[in-house]
Amino acid sequence: MDMWLKEGQLEDTAMTYKIKETICRKKTPYQDLAIVDTYAFGRMLILDGIVQTTIKDEYVYHEMISHIPLFTHPNPEKILVVGGGDGGTIREVLKHPSVKKAILCEIDKVVIDECRNHLKEISCSLDDPRCEIFVGDGINYVHEHKNEFDVIIIDSTDPFGAAEGLFGGSFYKEIYEALKDEGIFVAQTESPFFLPHVVKKVFSDSKNVFPITKLFMAAIPTYPSGYWSFTIGSKKYNPSSIDISENLSFETKYYTKELHKASFVLPRFIEDILK
Ligand code: SAM
Repeated sequence: MDMWLKEGQLEDTAMTYKIKETICRKKTPYQDLAIVDTYAFGRMLILDGIVQTTIKDEYVYHEMISHIPLFTHPNPEKILVVGGGDGGTIREVLKHPSVKKAILCEIDKVVIDECRNHLKEISCSLDDPRCEIFVGDGINYVHEHKNEFDVIIIDSTDPFGAAEGLFGGSFYKEIYEALKDEGIFVAQTESPFFLPHVVKKVFSDSKNVFPITKLFMAAIPTYPSGYWSFTIGSKKYNPSSIDISENLSFETKYYTKELHKASFVLPRFIEDILK
């Protein structure tokens, strides 16, 4: 018998994946968690029926959400990742030799535990001595820390439930305060095809707080519409005009210095959304 996962994306749109095997399925205090093995994308983490990350295309998201802010900052030493319990963003952040400490603040310990058990390619750096794991709400964590981080990365689920408060103007003010004077923040901010109002609101909320706000894009096959936005707010450095003369000191599969700049070049319809 064929087994298919149907991920509802909009009310009238869904994506389907043929499943080889269900690896684990749990109800956590925060969400429904499943890890399944699929024919097309390998193992996948699914939360409340929404695909979070897959072995085949995870590198696009994790490289872009990490390397764009970390290469924009001249000396990123202390990094906070909010959400991101799969560990993929921490893995990429720790590739930067300047990083002394990367804190993962994930609300759901079960996500961390099951990704350690079943998605080792993604969670492989969670035991690095430079990584500190804090299980709790990112909103409270950011509120309790001032002038402390060089880069804050919001690697959250979609803007519903526990993640809803991670997408608002008042949270961006708290992020601004938790960052040092040269600090940068980045967040995954949904599909401009499917949720243009979210992209617009996040961009304008960030612009009200940070002197420099930019949007960059990446092609992620398993995210709704396959074309994903990230919003970056910066106190000092412009992420779209970094110096690309130096070679990378580690390997990447998606990110290059040329792509860094190119990802900020937006199609007309996205420019119009941001107006
Ligand atoms: N790359 C993913 C995506 O865009 O689909 C995000 C993956 S990551 C697994 C998202 C994590 O954010 C989840 O594990 C969820 O538990 C966590 N999360 C949601 N709200 C949170 C909050 N308020 N504080 C900390 N973590 C939160």
